[in-house]
Amino acid sequence: MKKIVFATNNEHKLQEMRQIIGSEFEVLSLSDIGCHEDIPETADTIEGNARQKAFYVKEHYGYDCFSDDTGLEIDALGGEPGVRSARYAGYDHNSENNIDKVLTLLGDRRDRSARFRTAIALLQGDKLTIFEGKVEGNILTERHGSGGFGYDSIFAPVEADGLTFAQMSPQQKNAISHRGRATRRLIAYLLGEEK
Ligand code: IMP
Repeated sequence: MKKIVFATNNEHKLQEMRQIIGSEFEVLSLSDIGCHEDIPETADTIEGNARQKAFYVKEHYGYDCFSDDTGLEIDALGGEPGVRSARYAGYDHNSENNIDKVLTLLGDRRDRSARFRTAIALLQGDKLTIFEGKVEGNILTERHGSGGFGYDSIFAPVEADGLTFAQMSPQQKNAISHRGRATRRLIAYLLGEEK
């Protein structure tokens, strides 16, 4: 089976990615290639961060790889947390505190539209290709469900009848998620290249 490096050590993301891509490629993580440091993510867009991580792995470890970056864009918050989604709560950032911050800032506002956007950067030699995926939805007023990770328990995709990502099976989430969509574009590209 062909091997491909996914520039992450996030177990949830690895599992999701292996579920989506796993029958076509063996997905190696950063620790599988001996990379244990935090890779800088200092760009001001998700595309920029995805690029930055892919180039870092290529430069320091020599592997062709792909990396992803995701942001939750909430319209009533001017597109925040966006590229700052992971660290939104500041010093004490974690999923619970990030969610609390979003719910506090939104309060009882009626406009709760939002979307997850994922950018995947694939670096092969010096050729960079970007794949995108997004899913539209709404931020609920409280948490629902216990699956998934990050903001899953407050995000209800428009096509899921009020269920949050945290109330879905991994397969249901992958079928409509930002990362699922971007990844399927990546796979189609990789498979097309092999022909
Ligand atoms: P990352 O760039 O994929 O690490 O995503 C940045 C942050 O966005 C993560 O720390 C999570 O808080 C959030 N996030 C990314 N993907 C998802 C998802 O599928 N569901 C919920 N939150 C997510």
